[in-house]
Amino acid sequence: MTANEQLTQRWQGALMDNYGTPRLPLVRGAGTKLWDADGKEYLDFVGGIAVNALGHAHPAIVEAVSRQIASLGHVSNLFVAEPPVTLAERLLQLFGRDGRVYFCNSGAEANEGAFKIGRLTGRGHMVATDGGFHGRTMGALALTGQPGKREPFLPLPGDVTHVPYGDPQALAAAVTEDTALVVIEPVQGENGVVVPPPGYLKAARAITAATGTLLVLDEVQTGVGRTGHWFEYQAHEGVLPDIVTLAKGLGGGLPLGATVAFGRAAQLLKPGHHGTTFGGNPVACAAGLAVLDTIEAEGLLENVKRTSEKLRDGIETLGHPLIDHVRGAGLLLGIVLTEPLAPRVQQTAQDAGLLVNAPAPDVVRLMPPLNVSDDEVDVFLRALPGVLDQARDADVDGAS
Ligand code: PMP
Repeated sequence: MTANEQLTQRWQGALMDNYGTPRLPLVRGAGTKLWDADGKEYLDFVGGIAVNALGHAHPAIVEAVSRQIASLGHVSNLFVAEPPVTLAERLLQLFGRDGRVYFCNSGAEANEGAFKIGRLTGRGHMVATDGGFHGRTMGALALTGQPGKREPFLPLPGDVTHVPYGDPQALAAAVTEDTALVVIEPVQGENGVVVPPPGYLKAARAITAATGTLLVLDEVQTGVGRTGHWFEYQAHEGVLPDIVTLAKGLGGGLPLGATVAFGRAAQLLKPGHHGTTFGGNPVACAAGLAVLDTIEAEGLLENVKRTSEKLRDGIETLGHPLIDHVRGAGLLLGIVLTEPLAPRVQQTAQDAGLLVNAPAPDVVRLMPPLNVSDDEVDVFLRALPGVLDQARDADVDGAS
């Protein structure tokens, strides 16, 4: 048995199979590279689903985490340490607004925080979008607009209406004076990198402002530089959300989420309303600070803009018959295929040493680290046609 097979067999025996697909057993990472248990090297264009903002084992993260765990690893929520305070201050500075931050450990929890703040408005109703993904805990799942994920767990908490994504009229029709919050992803990541039409977020802001409804932007996937802006909504004129939820890239590989609230939304949670043991722990926050510092110091917003254009143009100019078009924002890109072969492309790419994923049957998603290099983009572009050929030929042979 190979080392990969051994680790896979142990995984199947010991871990709950909550994703249902065979998972690649990985043992080491450095930058954009990963190695499996058999020693095979991969170019990581999944980035831990946008988690590895700086790639694997970035020295700034290693140093910040090591320094912090060696001095003050955890203080519990009875006390306060400096890293969460500094990180909250830094985040608010990047938002350029007064507000307050609630730190937690994941994207789902960040949205639970928003859900609770919504409840504290005294209104009962919430609006979310079809296809939207906000996490797997029960409150976040109630907001998630993917029926297959919801159905085994009905009834879900809250009175939530789901409306078609990207349609301001449908949104306006659903939002009333009893709507506590509207939650929207600036780009729907899990639904296949779906980009709303221009003006959608601005319309959502106007609709929610008119009814005194909180606008919650779930930037768990789009935030912290992923799209070439600190937060994707900042690329949209006239959009000031009441709450932004963050996770994934914020912790640079450590579990860290944040519910960031502005204005009156920042005042609603009162002592005793909410909490978590590990939220805002110094080690994860030290990693978060290292992520923000490194994005700034290494000019990574610019790198995202440059490499994403190169990647996008490069894919489109391949003119491969399996490629319809590329959509997305910054380094959150979806290759839309002409046939529903994305899961097979994910597999043929992996065989060829490229890691991508397939959030929809016809969409291959790319989320390389924010510091991906031009050379790495070139490697990807050179390999892609062969990967697509193989996926298509496998289909023709019926050899799935
Ligand atoms: N919101 C969005 C937009 C996400 O993409 C995800 C994760 N894919 C979540 C929330 C949930 O985050 P987590 O898995 O950290 O709970």
